[in-house]
Order: sequence, then C-alpha cells, then structure tokens
Amino acid sequence: MKYIIVTGGVMSGLGKGITAASVGRILKNRGYRVTAVKIDPYLNIDAGTMNPAQHGEVFVLKDGSEVDLDLGNYERFLDIELTASHNITTGKVYRTVIQKERRGDFLGETVQIIPHITDQIKTCIRQAAEEEFPDGTKADICLVEVGGTVGDIESMPFLEAIRQMRGEIPPHDYVLIHVTLIPEDTMGDMKTKPTQHSVKALRELGLHAEIIVGRSANPIGAGTKRKISAFCDLPQNAVISAATAPDTYAVPMEMEKEGIADVLSAHLGLDRREADTTWYRIVNREYTNRVTVAIVSKYGIEDVYISIKESLKHAGRALSTEVKIAWLDAERYERCSLKDYDGILIPGGFGKRGIEGKIEAIRFARENNTPFLGLCLGFQLATVEYARNKAGIADATSEEFGEGTHVIAILPEQEGVNDLGGTMRLGNYTADIREGTLANRLYGQKQIVERHRHRYEVNPAHIDRLEKAGLVFSATNKNRMECLELPGHPFFFATQFHPEFRSRPTRPSPPYLGFVEACRANKRTS
Ligand code: GLN
Repeated sequence: MKYIIVTGGVMSGLGKGITAASVGRILKNRGYRVTAVKIDPYLNIDAGTMNPAQHGEVFVLKDGSEVDLDLGNYERFLDIELTASHNITTGKVYRTVIQKERRGDFLGETVQIIPHITDQIKTCIRQAAEEEFPDGTKADICLVEVGGTVGDIESMPFLEAIRQMRGEIPPHDYVLIHVTLIPEDTMGDMKTKPTQHSVKALRELGLHAEIIVGRSANPIGAGTKRKISAFCDLPQNAVISAATAPDTYAVPMEMEKEGIADVLSAHLGLDRREADTTWYRIVNREYTNRVTVAIVSKYGIEDVYISIKESLKHAGRALSTEVKIAWLDAERYERCSLKDYDGILIPGGFGKRGIEGKIEAIRFARENNTPFLGLCLGFQLATVEYARNKAGIADATSEEFGEGTHVIAILPEQEGVNDLGGTMRLGNYTADIREGTLANRLYGQKQIVERHRHRYEVNPAHIDRLEKAGLVFSATNKNRMECLELPGHPFFFATQFHPEFRSRPTRPSPPYLGFVEACRANKRTS
C-alpha cells in the first residue's frame, strides 16, 4: 500500500479535497486502484448532526454513514464507494481509545495522546486503506487528506501520527503533498511568504513536503516556482501550479499538464504508464445546448446541494447540455417567475420552513407541464401537493410539519424510537420498479439500489386514494414508496432516495439524465 498524504497550509477552503481527488484521478487514469481517507479533526463522531448551512452538504455513503462532503468528491472523482471507516474524526478516535481504556485493554498504563491516540489514528488509516473493493481487490494507493490547516490545535495528533507513519513504512510508499495558497498583491505579483511560513510550520512538526501544490487565481510562473523551490527545499518540478479552474473536473487535466504524475511516479516508484484519457474527453465535451433549472430551497448556500449540482452537471455533460441553476428562495420567490425556467427541482430538506413555497412550485410544474424532479423532501411534498389538489385531502401534510392529514408519516414500525438518529433510514436500500413506468424506462432495470436519508414515508393508509386520483408510485421497497410519477406529464418524477449520491461524471444518474433531457425538450430560456 502506498500513501499519499495531503495537508493544507495558510487557510482553509483552498480546495484541498479537489486537489487530492484530482491526484487520485490522475493515478486511476494510469490504471492504479486508488482509495481515499478523509480526516476531519473536529470532535463530532460524524457529520450527521452538523448544520449543512455551516458545513455544507452531509454526504451519505452506501453503509448509511453521514460524512463530510469531501467524501462525495472522492467517490465522484475515483468512481468508488467508500464506507464509514474512510472518514476519521477526532470523535471516533477518542471514543475507541476511551472504550478500550474502560475495557481495561491498556493494563494499568497511563493513556496518552502519544502513543495511544496516534496509534489508533494509524490503525484507522491502515484499516480504511486496506478495505477491499466489492470485487475483492484492494487499493494500490491510498490518499489521506488531513482536514484543517497545519498549525490547528485539533489536527496535531493526526499530523504526529502521519509523521510516525513515515518512519514505519518504506520510503517509496509515502509521499506528502502540501496544498497552499499563493496570493497576489495589488500589483498582481505572486507572494510566496505565506507558503514559506506554512512549510516552516510543517517542518516544526517533523514533516517534509515532497510536492507543493500552489492554489492561486492565475497560473504560477517559473520565477515564483523557483522561489518556492529554494525556500521550501524541494525541486522546482515538484512545485505544481493549480490555478482556479472553471470546472473542478478539469483540475486533473491541469495538474497532469504540470507534470505531477512524473513527480509522484518517481517518489512512489510507480512505472510510467500512458494515461487513459476517457475522463479528459468527457470534461472537454462541448456544450451545444443550455437549459436553466430552478432549484427552490430554503438554504441560500449552494454547498448544501453540491451533489445535486454535480449530478446535473454529469447529466448535462452526457447530453452536451450546459445546465444553469437559478436558486429560488422558497419563502420569497415570485410564483410568476417559474415560467421562466426549463425545469423545476425540489431538493431534500428538513423542517417546516419554506414548504408552502415548494408545494406551490410543484403545483406549478404539474399544471404547466414543466419538467419536475423531486428529491426526498421534494418527493414527500409532491405527494402532499397531489393529495391536497387532486385527491381531495385539503389538509394533507407531513407528520414532520404538524397538524393535518398525514399523507407522509412515521411508519408504525418506526414509532417509539425517540432518539432522532435512531429513526433515520440511511444508506443503500433496494427498490423494485413497476414495469412500463417512467422509472423503468429511466433505469432500464427492475431492481435498483440507491442511497437514502430520511425519517418519514408515504403513509400506506392513503396510497389507494392517491393512486386512484392518478398518482403512480412506480418503485417500492415493501410498504415503502420509493418513486412517484404522473403519466401524461412530460416529466414529473420524484424519489424518496437521493440519486445524486451515486451519480458520477462517467456514469450520470438516470433520474437526472431524464430530467435534463426533458428540460432540453421543454426549453424556454435562451
Ligand atoms: N425531512 C424529511 C424526512 O426526514 C426528508 C429528508 C430529506 O429530504 N433528506 O423524511
């Protein structure tokens, strides 16, 4: 197993995750099996309870774990499926060590950060790296991204563990990439001092960067590279320029041009192989069409819906159609503006705020033949809308929102679980698709697997009435409704699951493909 450690300097939000995922893609393009571990030095056990408005989307893995959105980037770039063990947090590490201490595993020792916590971190990294892929093979290379910035108190034990690792594995199996910011002054000159300082901070911890990736607004010139090379003690070709790219999927290509593959190959003793260019061809595909999709939501922050954004991009690429997104505030948008979009998407969400605006948008899409895609909460609200306006259940609502007829409810088998986390249906579940439906046409399969993250379900007591009124539940998992659609409408489709978590640039998600295709056919915008 070879390890590529990725640390960050100067400031957070540099795109360290995209950089690491891009490095992984470059190696995967050369035929290596690559996996990834994300270290989040916060104390939370996982991201499940974290506010998406602060931390961005909570990504859901196949095993149902709720993790940092960077894991989504790794899955998309590397086309793999990760598990809980690939997201290491301080909370998880300490919990394990404390449990061991309570069990008496340490036999009277004083339990300390070094060696007990650092040993546990190394064990976690190795376990995640060695985890088999579904085909029984293992990765050749594991990326280890250390969240936060070098110098943060919280990341210290992780950086110490990584320092120890260096001495414990052969030199050819370890390389450290430091991602840093190269700002420009008012004259447009690139400044290397922040990088020098963060490399100094790394050195104080006993770490040496073999490669520096400089994030900057514009490409880094030879003069700046020479300076970094001299001050940071590494050859000039190991200073890689990573200027902000218009599209994150183009980053591997840009870094490839900078020669990072050769530098990595030399360090890790990899044989030189020609790159498979499929990825680059997809990224370079020209757009011949453009559609604008309205996403009606209550969060103003796009990071909350990163997987949805990416899935629309994946589908758009496959259809040579650029998908522009208009973010509409569910509480404030003008109903008449909805006619200006080629399609309407209602994403997942929790809580009551903004739901009436979303229901109105769904009604508009249904009545005006506008392509509609509903996801999770969007699926539930499409059910509520139909119940109210077509099935004669005027006070239809979800149990989540309060009084009324609960067409969306907690199923009896879930009741009695008071712990909020305990009632969530998380991760992969199968759904059986009804033949002859839109769902069947989209997936071309009778059974599918998709990821879930929800607590409420369509209430079985009202299904008959809804179906008699014309709504079709086209996929189910036993008594749980998984997809709904409206025959006769150009594209009215919603899923209780989140298909965006399995969409890849190389393999767009079927509901998204169908939606973008319908938006293109419905095109109203220029
Ligand atoms: N709030 C809804 C539920 O818990 C929908 C969740 C979601 O959209 N992810 O069932």
